[in-house]
Amino acid sequence: MKIIFLGAPGAGKGTQAERVSAALEIPAISTGNIIREAIATGTEMGVEAKKYTSTGALVPDEIVIGIIKERLAKDDCKNGFILDGFPRTVPQAEALDRMGVAIDRVVSIEVEDERITKRMSGRRSCPACGATYHVDYKPSKNGTNCDVCGAELVIRADDKPEVVLSRLATYHEQTEPLKDFYEAKGVLKTVIGQEEVADTTALTFEALK
Ligand code: AMP
Repeated sequence: MKIIFLGAPGAGKGTQAERVSAALEIPAISTGNIIREAIATGTEMGVEAKKYTSTGALVPDEIVIGIIKERLAKDDCKNGFILDGFPRTVPQAEALDRMGVAIDRVVSIEVEDERITKRMSGRRSCPACGATYHVDYKPSKNGTNCDVCGAELVIRADDKPEVVLSRLATYHEQTEPLKDFYEAKGVLKTVIGQEEVADTTALTFEALK
């Protein structure tokens, strides 16, 4: 199954993608995680990408399309994959079409902006493996370290309130039009993000049936 998760930053795409990935045994691919890794290791792409991520803007299409092309060519994508955070613009979705990737289902997770800004203040991330947590809704076992790899959790630089507002504006302007794009293809399902992660997960699996 080839699945896309759409939604504003902080809507819960990453969390749901991790759960579906475990259940269906297909990789969850987060362009945000790949970009953060490149920034952390200081690659040429990372240095370029940081100019955009630090203000809440999108990294240029040609860079992210290149990242995805390379990633989807890997062996573990043969039986399907989940895209978390890609595509984020209509040209990126058109590029997927040109690659011959036929998407089976697009799940749009909807959460109001006001709730997003509240949620983001409690978000914690693992700088080593990219897993995400929330101090109230999804705490790690000991509250300070990643359950998966043990690294100390951090607040992402772009989860600061002023950058979150800019990321939300970017989402509404550039990413939301993708709902119409995939609705027209007949593959869009909407999930209303719930207070409890498990409730959103149940609705997500319903949408994937
Ligand atoms: P995320 O972790 O998905 O919220 O992504 C973090 C940041 O990485 C975004 O705010 C963008 O600057 C950049 N990014 C991630 N995915 C994309 C994409 N598909 N297109 C452009 N920029 C992206």
